[in-house]
Amino acid sequence: MNRLVPDSRFGEKNTAFWMKISSSPHLAIVRDSLTLAFPVIIAGAFAVLINNFPVAGYQEFMKDTFGDQWTMFGGYVWGGTLAVLALVTVTSIGYGMCTYYNSRHRLTSVHPLIAGLVSLCSLMTLMEPSLEIFAIPYSWVGIHGLFLAIIAGLLSSSVFLWLYGRGRTFRFFTEIPSSIMLSAFSSLLPGAVTIFMFGAFKTAMHYSGYPDIHKLTYDLICTPFIGMGNNLTSALVFGFVRQFLWFLGIHGSNALEPVMTELYSTSAASLAAGGGTQFAFTKTFFDSYVTMGGAGNTLSLLTAFFIARKGRDIGTVAKISILPAIFNINETLLFGIPIVLNPIFIIPFIITPMLLTVTSYAVMSAGLVSATLTEVTWTTPALVSGWVASGGVSGAFLQIFNIALGTVIYLPFVKIADKVQGAKFESTFKELLKISYTLEDNGGAALIARDDDIGSLSRVLCNDLLRSIAKKQLFLEYQPQVDCRDGRVLGVEALVRWQHDKLGRIPPSLFIPLAEEIGFIDEIGIWVCEDCCRQTKEWKEAGIEGVVTSFNVSVKQLEDPDLPEKIKDIFEKWGVVPADMKMEVTESTGLSSDMGHNILLQDIRLMGLNIAIDDFGMGHTSLVYLKQFPVSMIKLDGSLVRDITTSKITSDIVSTISELCRSMDIELLAEFVETEAQAEKLKNLGCCIFQGYLYSPALPPDKCETVLRQGFRTY
Ligand code: C2E
Ligand code: MG
Ligand code: MG
Repeated sequence: MNRLVPDSRFGEKNTAFWMKISSSPHLAIVRDSLTLAFPVIIAGAFAVLINNFPVAGYQEFMKDTFGDQWTMFGGYVWGGTLAVLALVTVTSIGYGMCTYYNSRHRLTSVHPLIAGLVSLCSLMTLMEPSLEIFAIPYSWVGIHGLFLAIIAGLLSSSVFLWLYGRGRTFRFFTEIPSSIMLSAFSSLLPGAVTIFMFGAFKTAMHYSGYPDIHKLTYDLICTPFIGMGNNLTSALVFGFVRQFLWFLGIHGSNALEPVMTELYSTSAASLAAGGGTQFAFTKTFFDSYVTMGGAGNTLSLLTAFFIARKGRDIGTVAKISILPAIFNINETLLFGIPIVLNPIFIIPFIITPMLLTVTSYAVMSAGLVSATLTEVTWTTPALVSGWVASGGVSGAFLQIFNIALGTVIYLPFVKIADKVQGAKFESTFKELLKISYTLEDNGGAALIARDDDIGSLSRVLCNDLLRSIAKKQLFLEYQPQVDCRDGRVLGVEALVRWQHDKLGRIPPSLFIPLAEEIGFIDEIGIWVCEDCCRQTKEWKEAGIEGVVTSFNVSVKQLEDPDLPEKIKDIFEKWGVVPADMKMEVTESTGLSSDMGHNILLQDIRLMGLNIAIDDFGMGHTSLVYLKQFPVSMIKLDGSLVRDITTSKITSDIVSTISELCRSMDIELLAEFVETEAQAEKLKNLGCCIFQGYLYSPALPPDKCETVLRQGFRTY
């Protein structure tokens, strides 16, 4: 666990503060929606890279091979991804808001896709179609329209879900409809009213003389700059606004493109400087010295990630972002981490490029680096771009200095983000562990199907679990079972352990139910059986005789009709006989009294393998099993042992079970024996085989071997 949470001077209190801010539901929903659009963003970013890869040889090669229109492929992919990002985002915001709503109002839950579609249509209602061709204007459905998409998404889904919560549309039905039908019909009115509201707003806009809401926002952003001139103040204001827009999810660089052309094109800059002479603030100046890796200084941010994680995994998103960042494409990191709308990053995200504007300007004013000599394509990687723009090595040095400075600014914030993420993860993991301890009592619960953090963590763990055997992360420990009359170890129980590479040991109470849920328990079961047979053989060869090794089999494994055959093959492979082994049926869901389980257990018994019923006396076990199944041992559950010394009823129950076992010739073992008083009492009630911490916890094989040779004291 600790390895996930980096060292930081940041106190618990601060982490809690940032955790609270960064998980404010609406911010989190918008961020998550952008993250959900990640595959789309990545595809688009690479399409941009394919078309703009800044190597002359590459461009020529592509042209020669695929003809003049070689950028068509990248163009189409861009057209289907980044160019429609606003549509993707608004849909996913509706979806996210709905999932959040469903988690709080389970009784009136609604299909999230419906909310997504209502949001999408609400946004489309605001679009001003191109009049001549009556088509959707491409310019506003992409990154340019993201800001309005976010606002429209939040507003429309809030209205829709509010109305939905108040609807009584279920009464349409006299019979029970399918859940999709129910969702669709119940959404009829709320959905239509929401979209009508957007339509009414748009109509009102039209009559008030502002038909195009997108253009209006765009003009509002750009107008103040016009007439500001090409100087440090305008460059700083420009930088501030660009970053702020990016932070809100608007493509700041694109939104301010007219300002860039008006104020900072090379010719405008030359004119401002009186013609001829070079001027500091040009598009190339910003691209090469200020926003290396793209707006937000992705290169500095990535370097800060590497440093903050000190050799730990920097995370998949950061890894995927390296290549686009080299070519100054920042979407992957901004939306993937995500930086956008993440309050932790607002300060460095805005301050870094502004500071780098000042340092670069100062260095140029001092004559240490030449102002833009040659315009450089924005996708040219750092160092090369500085070299070309300044006509020498000095530009590259300025870039190195600026990246380092940006890294220093980002570093503390990356550490805070890491710490907040670690703390969030830790609390989810703790919660999951807590749930896992109650799973048996609740007859097992669906963990991976859950739509919350617990569900996603469970799914991550399941993915790791599937690889645990191949990665040799599973191993067995053995807990002795002792006859209290002579202290002899009669047997050992093999208990499986999972050493996760990042989270350390994960208790079987968590991963066994997960394995059962995803159908991986058969493979784990077979692995356990093989490994304990191998160990038993090793002990036998080392001269240890008469010890029976028990292995646990989940009820789910009993659904495999080939199980007896498989066990037989394993015994033969490792040269053990059935008498050396015992099978414990651990049940979280309950043995069914159907014939299937019965026949299978009979087959196993006929092989000569003894069967124990685990955790007898709790939850699902019942005395009927003794009649129905060919059992040779009962393991009293810990809950009975725990209060055996204090509860008269418990001791009466145990006494009855003990009596029954004697008459049916079934061995009785008490688990969880922790105190001498419990041992005494159990012995008096006729139970003499114990397993528990009073004697020994589960031990690694070598330590267990020592115990097997020594035995224990008697009672
Ligand atoms: P179980 O089969 O009833 O195993 C006994 C559990 O009680 C073990 O926990 C053991 O470490 C713990 N224990 C033993 N003595 C004491 C004691 O004196 N006090 C307390 N408080 N605990 C004690 P563990 O290893 O965490 O296993 C939990 C459960 O996970 C097992 O319960 C079993 O249901 C399941 N499990 C473990 N290994 C396997 C396996 O290989 N296959 C399957 N299907 N299930 C397994
Ligand atoms: Mg057991
Ligand atoms: Mg047990």
